[in-house]
Amino acid sequence: MKNIFVSTPALSVLGKLFREYRLRPKAALLFDSTTEKLFQKKITQELKHQAIEFKTFTVKSGEKSKSLRTAESLYSAFLKEGIDRSYTLIACGGGVVGDLGGFVAASYMRGLPLIQMPTTLLGMVDSAIGGKTAVNLAEGKNLIGFFYEPSFTLIEPEFLKTLEARDIVSGCAEILKYALILDAPFLTFLESHFEKLLKLTPPYTHQAIRRSAQLKSRVVRLDLKETLGIRAKLNFGHTFAHAIETIGNYSGLRHGEAVLVGMLCATYLSDKTMGMKSREIKRIEAMVSRFTLPKSILTRDFLNQSPEALIAAMQSDKKKSGKQLRFVLLSKIGSAKLSESQIPFKDVSKAIDKAKQFLS
Ligand code: NAD
Repeated sequence: MKNIFVSTPALSVLGKLFREYRLRPKAALLFDSTTEKLFQKKITQELKHQAIEFKTFTVKSGEKSKSLRTAESLYSAFLKEGIDRSYTLIACGGGVVGDLGGFVAASYMRGLPLIQMPTTLLGMVDSAIGGKTAVNLAEGKNLIGFFYEPSFTLIEPEFLKTLEARDIVSGCAEILKYALILDAPFLTFLESHFEKLLKLTPPYTHQAIRRSAQLKSRVVRLDLKETLGIRAKLNFGHTFAHAIETIGNYSGLRHGEAVLVGMLCATYLSDKTMGMKSREIKRIEAMVSRFTLPKSILTRDFLNQSPEALIAAMQSDKKKSGKQLRFVLLSKIGSAKLSESQIPFKDVSKAIDKAKQFLS
């Protein structure tokens, strides 16, 4: 966690961090069209103040920008503007800018130093931590990319104030995930301060982001390139979430909202296969019920779907790659593991039905 900084005001330490990390005082600033409007002025003022030279580049906001075509247009723009390896790329935006910026930093002129400056809650607790960069292909998401660590990640929780409430809820679901899979005392913290967190009240937001980033980076450090199965724990709820997102054609529930529903399903599956204590299941249910989910989308993409349809959607890309369906399960709060054997479909189906009943 030594290179992840969470503070307010965060930008005032940029110059000091540039020196500490031996970066030349030159930056290629990458925004998307939304974060440019919101943060460019503030950031460039600070860069000028700290005598860091900069050039600004902007891509359209949205997942479509995570493409080889956008990366190529950035390479050309960088060349035109004279960006060379003395520059550091600062990726200022959500997961899209983070993944794309990381990809371009890793590949342009065989690698520019990178600073992640996430502006969504998902970015702060997940995508900007762990060094995964990517672009999408027509055949699927995140198929091309590098593991490429930023020099540091700088997090200003105040940036979250312009986010939609659903994006906060979605990020909070990822925060809850860390507590459930890795850190029981963190769940107690969330139980005590959840509404303050939803309202972005300091210092609770800072504490929750710091703890989540710490937990993710600890897991990542043990399994840098995702070869040992340790990092797989971070996918708690994701097999179910993937099915819900597929059914919604990736424009239904937000990723974090789908993960929340997925975590509830995975909890019921853990009850069946790992014998979780009913007291712990009640705690998880109580936390899930404190989240607001968009009812009509939830109904369309989950409540009205049969378990068979959801299981088929889970299998859609696994079948192609010949992989088995795997589930991350809890033995208790704070302790997760990847299922070793194939879980019977009837158990998966029962877990889905139970979650549907709870959320109806
Ligand atoms: P995003 O980057 O598309 O941001 C969502 C929307 O919010 C965009 O329209 C963006 O312009 C806007 N926005 C950003 N900051 C804002 C702010 N402060 N105020 C108002 N609006 C703001 O999406 P995301 O949810 O941040 O990230 C999703 C992406 O992250 C996906 O592509 C996913 O694959 C990737 N991801 C990567 C990792 C990883 O480990 N690299 C992990 C999880 C997700």
